[in-house]
Amino acid sequence: MYVAETINYKGTFVESLVEITIFASRKTNHLFIDSSEVITITTISSLQQYLSLNRRQKKGFVPTMGALHQGHLSLIDEARAQSDITIVSIYVNPTQFNESSDLQNYPRTLSQDVLSLVKKGCDVLFLPTDREMYPDGLDKSPPLDISAWASTMEGEFRPGHFDGMARVMYRFIEILKPDKVFMGQKDYQQYKIVDQMSDELDLGAEIIACPIIREENGLAMSSRNLRLTAENRREASKIHETLQEGAERLRAGSSSSIVESWAMDQMLSFGFRPEYFKVVDKDSLEPLDEVEPTREFIICTAAWVGEVRLIDNIWIRPQEEKTNE
Ligand code: AMP
Repeated sequence: MYVAETINYKGTFVESLVEITIFASRKTNHLFIDSSEVITITTISSLQQYLSLNRRQKKGFVPTMGALHQGHLSLIDEARAQSDITIVSIYVNPTQFNESSDLQNYPRTLSQDVLSLVKKGCDVLFLPTDREMYPDGLDKSPPLDISAWASTMEGEFRPGHFDGMARVMYRFIEILKPDKVFMGQKDYQQYKIVDQMSDELDLGAEIIACPIIREENGLAMSSRNLRLTAENRREASKIHETLQEGAERLRAGSSSSIVESWAMDQMLSFGFRPEYFKVVDKDSLEPLDEVEPTREFIICTAAWVGEVRLIDNIWIRPQEEKTNE
């Protein structure tokens, strides 16, 4: 059992993974503790020491903000399949929150997360503090000009969000030097910006987009779903339905602007507060007026359902005659 640092969990100093796991198992009444291990590291120097001992191994990295669900766990499966060592980070990055209430209300479920990671066979959990990530203060300037990808959709409604996200992802990649980074298609614009950054700055990491994992009713899994009421959770499945029907209408020849305004009206009629519904090019994220049969495109949307802001998208690959939803 390796634990590089003592962690302070909700005011309790937790000395070892066994204690974290027992703490978690008491809370959740899980008596089963997987015998596999996860190395928990909270400082960059310990992490780099570990990495230098394993420099020949192919490293797969899964960055997360915790409150892990099946969507996150699917990224870990993919990372394990494509790497020798799988490193997962849990870090609620303050600079990518444009509203302090969202940061405060962000779900934190560390004890259950550790259990999930142990069961999944993740090799390393990196749990840094703000001071480790931002030793010179909370700098949120992005390491390159991302405005071409970051000014629409999420960027328009969450000013500064992508600046903070790009900064922290640059820092993670710089520290870990992963061979591959596994990200969800759920946050497509985020994936695209990190992919672009890795290319332009020659960071040496391949950025892999993994499919969206959904609840049975079609709702995209998200840590924020924990804050939905039962009724809202049922209703929120209509976001995916609207994306699917929007895609059908585009295929049937409707223009993007007609489909976009139809979808916004639909979501208003469900009692949601939609922010955008956009048909965009898969690479440039430029709006598309109409969809040519051979072109790959994405439809992205964000809407408030009750008190919770949800995002979702659908990726249309016409050549293969299939969607990655
Ligand atoms: P987060 O913890 O929300 O920052 O997400 C961490 C990673 O998990 C990001 O790359 C997300 O895109 C990905 N992710 C979140 N939800 C899902 C989902 N439902 N399916 C697949 N990946 C997801």
